[in-house]
Amino acid sequence: MPTDRPDLPREPLTPASAAVARMQTPRLPDPDAPVARGTLDQAIELLRGRTLAVLTGAGVSTDSGIPDYRGPDSPPRNPMTYDQFVGDPDFRRHYWARNHVGWQHVRRTHPNAGHLALVRLEERGIVRGIITQNVDLLHEDAGSRNVIDLHGRYDRVICLQCSRVISREHLAERLDALNPGFVESIGKVEDIEIAPDADAVIETTAHFRPAPCEFCGGVLKPEIVYFGENVPRERVDRAFAMVDDAEALLVAGSSLTVMSGLRFVRRAAKDGKVVVIVNRGATRGDPLATLTVDAGVSEALTELAARL
Ligand SMILES: [Zn+2]
Repeated sequence: MPTDRPDLPREPLTPASAAVARMQTPRLPDPDAPVARGTLDQAIELLRGRTLAVLTGAGVSTDSGIPDYRGPDSPPRNPMTYDQFVGDPDFRRHYWARNHVGWQHVRRTHPNAGHLALVRLEERGIVRGIITQNVDLLHEDAGSRNVIDLHGRYDRVICLQCSRVISREHLAERLDALNPGFVESIGKVEDIEIAPDADAVIETTAHFRPAPCEFCGGVLKPEIVYFGENVPRERVDRAFAMVDDAEALLVAGSSLTVMSGLRFVRRAAKDGKVVVIVNRGATRGDPLATLTVDAGVSEALTELAARL
């Protein structure tokens, strides 16, 4: 599972609905506008006295040991798509074998200073809520209360046939029983390259036996939104409401490569709200932002929590 996603399919606009859409978006800033780059001091001036919605991406979790494979230092990767997972049993077997090793790494990670800074800002009523593109649950582990896991969560598994949801922990017990010695044969989890989606990079998966749904025999899938899959509408609506409820939007640690996150920046910008983006490297939302700050996320959030 990617922490960012490609553009999700959208309904084609009829000429009439396109006209309505244009009428409803008169204030959308020019996407080719020059980018307002600035300092953390300027960000603090802009955000002070305003309530915040926060959109977080992989950059928030890198200091917890979960790599950001869209970050400037990350190797290029080809994330699995939903169609590959559903359509190809060999692909699924390979995915589950890798996931069976990788998820335990994610389970052992801990929140970092950035997560904890957001907890303090929420306790003081400054942060109204967090929309995260991460599936690692580190915001919840840190103690943040109002969190929307936009792309799902790594600790749950859903049956594509009967829609029952089970815990990843329970599935781990079944996979261990079906594949005795597999995890041990891979070596220490910490020694394996881990991708953000709990998909450990290992090659010896040919004999791995995935588990079918124990209720109906259907195909199990992590309760994570893959590339090519839509975020559930209800979840998107809650996230928009969170943005609408706040006076400014703070983006932390996301390159906003995909529409699933970028649309919240567009919404806030269209409504004339302050949008501040803190990220290492450029983001696709930069032309829409009031201010962008190129900085480490943990340090920047810690500073914001101390000075806002
Ligand atoms: Zn089932």
